[in-house]
Amino acid sequence: MPPLAIYIHIPFCQRKCPYCDFNTYAGREGQYDAFVQALVEDIWRTGDALGNPAVRTIFLGGGTPTVLEPGHLHMIFEALHGGFDVLPEAEITSEANPGAVDASRFETLRMLGVNRLSMGVQSFDDEELRFLGRIHTADEARAAFALARRVGFENINLDFMFGLPEQSPDVWRKTLQTAIELNTEHLSLYSLTVEPDTALAAWVARGQVSAPDPDLAADLYEAAQELLGRAGFHQYEISNWARGPLGDDLLPRFASRHNVVYWRNEPYLGFGPGAHGWFGGVRRAVVRDVGAYIRCVEAGEPYWSMEEPISRNLEMGETMMLGLRLTSVGVERAVFRRRFGADVADVYPHQLSSLLAAELIEMTPERVRLTPRALLIGNEVFAAFLPEA
Ligand code: SF4
Repeated sequence: MPPLAIYIHIPFCQRKCPYCDFNTYAGREGQYDAFVQALVEDIWRTGDALGNPAVRTIFLGGGTPTVLEPGHLHMIFEALHGGFDVLPEAEITSEANPGAVDASRFETLRMLGVNRLSMGVQSFDDEELRFLGRIHTADEARAAFALARRVGFENINLDFMFGLPEQSPDVWRKTLQTAIELNTEHLSLYSLTVEPDTALAAWVARGQVSAPDPDLAADLYEAAQELLGRAGFHQYEISNWARGPLGDDLLPRFASRHNVVYWRNEPYLGFGPGAHGWFGGVRRAVVRDVGAYIRCVEAGEPYWSMEEPISRNLEMGETMMLGLRLTSVGVERAVFRRRFGADVADVYPHQLSSLLAAELIEMTPERVRLTPRALLIGNEVFAAFLPEA
């Protein structure tokens, strides 16, 4: 079995952001101890059941992992090392909210082997941060970044959000410029979307806030491509930029190895409420409710809210859809052939020829990838590879 990737979902935040539809809850401090107990039990048990396999990436996400106490983080890492063979070169990422960090948490993460930090900064403009309901200011985000550096993090990602209603292109450029000046290794840029059942959706429905404008978002995305490209970042995925140099695998040195596992459609395990995993040919999702998760683990009962065996057809389609997100690498034809025993050109002759004619993909003997003009309409391209129901 090739080394695994592990995602751990910490379903807590200090405050719920109005646009967020992730499975995360505020005001649940009383559940932290029981949740961590259940999580560590789950990690040990699963690792032992699988024969303590090797792990090449770990991603502690959420939610906000840094709301947990250092003692909780110790317990989680003890379980990871007990249940799994975490390789010495493993990439270990933790998300962090700039408003929920301090030196002791950062030092704890470093000591536990976390070698990559991913901070949800979202903007370096205080007015935008207020609109987004963030718990930190721009200065606090800068201070959190400086603290992370002082503690020794040499691989930091910053998340940003664009396409806010009537967002000023100048303010967006200033935000990116600040990130460039901070010398971050990686940026993830996401356009604001109005998700159902969020506070933002209610504001838009009541007319208190105008809906995000896709044309403005497209302009801001292109501005980011231009600015970050000039600053030496490689756009290696539709929403992700990293510093190089580029390796033989066409990925920049600071690409997120964990997320590359997802984009290559390789197996990973998910732990914690609402986490997804794909392993042994089956996709699974853990029950979203924190209390239900704790009860199931304590009782030794299954906690899946969804289990779906993935057919070869679906696996091939998903491998295409996810692989095309990698802008330089794309779908490697030799890798596809090794995995499925067939060439992409034979499996998808009609889809590929119509996408080629529309100049949405380019094809070489080595790979299939999106053309630059397809980056903004990737979903239309991906849909071509969905197997018919
Ligand atoms: S901090 Fe992140 S995970 Fe938590 S509510 Fe805000 S956007 Fe969602």
